[in-house]
Amino acid sequence: MKILVINCGSSSIKYELFEMEDESVIAEGLIEKIGTESAIITYQATDKEELMKTAEILDHREGLNLVLRLLMDDKDGVIASKNEVAAVGHRVVHGGEFFSESAVITSEVRQAIRKTVDLAPLHNPPNLLGIAAAEQQLPDAIHVAVFDTAFHQTMPKHAYLYPLPYVLYTRHKIRRYGFHGTSHKYVSEQAALFIEKPLTELKIISAHIGNGASVTAIDHGISIDTSMGMTPLEGLMMGTRCGDIDPAIVPYVIAKEDLTLSEIQSMMNKHSGLLGVTGMSSDMREVTQAMEEGNEQAKLAIDMYLYKLRKTIGSYIAAMNGVDILLFTAGVGENSSYVRQEVCKELSFFGIELDQSKNNIRSKKTREISTPNSKVKVLVVPTYEELMIAREAKHLVDQQ
Ligand code: AMP
Repeated sequence: MKILVINCGSSSIKYELFEMEDESVIAEGLIEKIGTESAIITYQATDKEELMKTAEILDHREGLNLVLRLLMDDKDGVIASKNEVAAVGHRVVHGGEFFSESAVITSEVRQAIRKTVDLAPLHNPPNLLGIAAAEQQLPDAIHVAVFDTAFHQTMPKHAYLYPLPYVLYTRHKIRRYGFHGTSHKYVSEQAALFIEKPLTELKIISAHIGNGASVTAIDHGISIDTSMGMTPLEGLMMGTRCGDIDPAIVPYVIAKEDLTLSEIQSMMNKHSGLLGVTGMSSDMREVTQAMEEGNEQAKLAIDMYLYKLRKTIGSYIAAMNGVDILLFTAGVGENSSYVRQEVCKELSFFGIELDQSKNNIRSKKTREISTPNSKVKVLVVPTYEELMIAREAKHLVDQQ
């Protein structure tokens, strides 16, 4: 069975075609700058040369049409007809309280996704555009929505509610939803497989730290708390996002700096975090290098980043009354041995002990980086959200 996974941003389509027999990737690529005369198209069929070109692509429908033409191309294509695509897995960022699992897309499902647009105004509209385009281009395929928020719908009420007037929850559904759910679910399953124990017997803390970052407490396979909130702005210090701050800072800065609401929103989302503190870069590689070269502001930014991450991990040990596995994933988590080392160094009270030589090994595979004596197993687990989306879609196709 072949499954196409698509992830639509406001001006981009990321796509990956899987053969689910062996979960291999047959082709993948990206279209960027949709809506311009010079959209950038990359396409890579496995074992063939990568193609790259620019073309005028007005909207997601045209973009997806081009993706299908590339997949069926006489020379570089990998399928003979559209009918070979049994299902399309769509990444949808926000499922609100409507979805606690992936769903076959029907008119009711589309309607529910539309109702959550207010909660994710930047993400859900392009996700809906992608769904409409794919349904038009592949009318015979089964379309499945896989939500970033769904995995966290298991959180108990005391963890997902904010201590605001309760009416804000009943009236506007203001609550913690959490994000990166597809990734947290995938890496926690991989971690359980790796240590050969059932997920249902484990307490796992999953640190997904990339440009966006969140930590999740996964108790016996179930998300019981996560650091992102109603939006992906809450929680950890990130590349460009501030994470938790005193909410009273917002009106204060608006008054002092004469900012509009949208300016302060942009400041907190795009000009804060590592970028805001260093004034230089949101990229952990560049900030780490600057720190190594003696840049004190870079050192301060990383110390702040590590402190917040460590405090959040510690709070989830408390939330679960223990932890069996601490895992790191995503760009920073998978690649920065320094971040892993520094976080774990200050968690020794909990019996976490890192093996430095294992921590320094670079690998694309799931691996253990703790010592045999460590009370908590520390793992690096590469995330693979696209594969998880394909698996979810296959699961629903199999049930049809
Ligand atoms: P992601 O959002 O998961 O793609 O992660 C992207 C981030 O990973 C980049 O912004 C970098 O800061 C970080 N990253 C990638 N490679 C490394 C590395 N070798 N060391 C530190 N950070 C890295």
